[in-house]
Amino acid sequence: MIKVKVSSNVKYSSMYAKGSAAERDKAVFNSCDALYNEIVSNLPEDRISVKHLRKITQRVLKEPKRIEIVELKSSGNSGENDYIYADKDNLTCTNFLGQIISIPMKWHKISELFIPPFLHEMAHAFDVLYNPKYTARTMSALKNKLLTSKYMTCYNNSLYKYETFSSEQDKENILKRVRKDIKKVFDSDMDASEKISIIQALRYDLETELKAFSVEFKVAKRMLHAKREILGCYKEDNYTESLMFPEKIKLLKEIAFEIIQKERAKHANQYGKVSSSEH
Ligand SMILES: [Zn+2]
Repeated sequence: MIKVKVSSNVKYSSMYAKGSAAERDKAVFNSCDALYNEIVSNLPEDRISVKHLRKITQRVLKEPKRIEIVELKSSGNSGENDYIYADKDNLTCTNFLGQIISIPMKWHKISELFIPPFLHEMAHAFDVLYNPKYTARTMSALKNKLLTSKYMTCYNNSLYKYETFSSEQDKENILKRVRKDIKKVFDSDMDASEKISIIQALRYDLETELKAFSVEFKVAKRMLHAKREILGCYKEDNYTESLMFPEKIKLLKEIAFEIIQKERAKHANQYGKVSSSEH
């Protein structure tokens, strides 16, 4: 595995990026709360200018970081986020200059309808700042060319997928499908550590989504309570349940465990052979 160093552009200094996973999650949630409070107290109308939103976002950051907010064009999504790459054309570029949030806007203004999706994307951005090891994992997977089109297909078509189920049996069948799809990402010549890197990257992708969706829903509920207008999808409570993220995260952990077990057994066998030939 290639060693990587995460740029200070996409992480907080160790003064802030510290503590247990639960403490970091709490810091992400607190940052989103602070940002939301700033936004609503600056929202006399039903829209906010992107210039103002950029200013507020910078104010909430613990340290100045480059987080661009741009218009989301021609996409079926309500928001997107990514790193800002020093060389976007290089598929293994890990020189990140900052982060970029894309959100629907009109005449440089964002409708209040897109405030929950904006906070969703910002939850990802804060997650990155508080957890440099996640970026390190992404960087190492990029450098080792593990984030292939097979990886993306599995993620987009099987993991980040709204499922339909009406029984526990249905859920089990869905997880069987997901397991098969995950295995398809592996090449026959991959070693255990490469497979584990892929599993960890997929798991992180789902864990950060789970957090971002929880922020998004909380914000939507608060807005509804404040009689603000929100998108219809938030009125359905099972909207994120059908993504089955907790179940899929558990499955990824199981697969990682199986790979490790298999590897251990292989080593034990080899050791057994060596020591038996010595006797
Ligand atoms: Zn997301």
